[in-house]
Amino acid sequence: MSLEKPASERKSRSRLERKLTVLKLGGSVITVKENPKTPNIQAIQRLANEIIRAKIRNLIVVHGGGSFGHPLADQYSIKEGFKKKTQIEGFSLTHQAMLELNKLVVDAFIRQGIPAFAISPSSCIITEAGRIKIFYNSPLAKLLAMGCVPVLFGDAILDTEIGFTILSGDQLVSALATRFNADKIVLGVDVDGLYPRDPKTGSSKGLIEQITLRKLKNMMVDIGRAKTVDVTGGMLGKISELIPAITCDVQALIVNASKQDNVYKALKGETVVGTLIRKK
Ligand code: ADP
Repeated sequence: MSLEKPASERKSRSRLERKLTVLKLGGSVITVKENPKTPNIQAIQRLANEIIRAKIRNLIVVHGGGSFGHPLADQYSIKEGFKKKTQIEGFSLTHQAMLELNKLVVDAFIRQGIPAFAISPSSCIITEAGRIKIFYNSPLAKLLAMGCVPVLFGDAILDTEIGFTILSGDQLVSALATRFNADKIVLGVDVDGLYPRDPKTGSSKGLIEQITLRKLKNMMVDIGRAKTVDVTGGMLGKISELIPAITCDVQALIVNASKQDNVYKALKGETVVGTLIRKK
């Protein structure tokens, strides 16, 4: 009698045991947000170096659009859906701008020795009213099994209800973490983590170092009532998108990726300034 488990069982066990990290590199970190289509090459190279030094296996990277995707998406109202023919040009241009930024990121990764492989979300995902509906993730799974680092991005995407829209990198991160059984999400942004109010417009006091899902949900209710907390813009979107992944027991760590070695430390599991969000 063989003690070996059937192939199907072995496969699902190893998938469960494998630790996976999903790393998001914010558009405000890897681009200069004020200047259209301006990459922050220094930051991209530094982050590539931090990733290779961390020597972690099983990593998916997602990056934001910053000054590449956002201005065009706004100009042509891509997120709002297909309403007039003139938007089609903008749909192409937004995707193309994201491909340009993705190429810079993947080139920098490969130069540092990271086995990066670009994946266009619009080629494997379709949304329904802005939410991921169809996700053909077999190529991604195969790439991971091969030891590659898939690199995806927020993208202009086809939508079953509204024709097209924008799939945010943050929604993508959460969906990837849930579907691929990640144990950790690292969100690299340009502030030190989550605060009671936007540190860029108000006080940067009171960094929330740890928060549970229950407290985070209460915080969202408070935001809705415009009470004691003020989480806006990109951070509000990130937090709302993270909730489904955290519900599935994925830990999320928000760190300042503009500061040297924070991403390295977060990937390695070393102590780092930031906000840790856990289910309990
Ligand atoms: P990225 O484009 O890099 O993914 P965003 O710029 O969309 O990130 O979101 C991060 C921004 O959210 C921060 O730079 C910060 O100014 C803003 N923000 C708003 N409210 C808060 C808050 N309560 N705590 C931390 N950041 C906040």
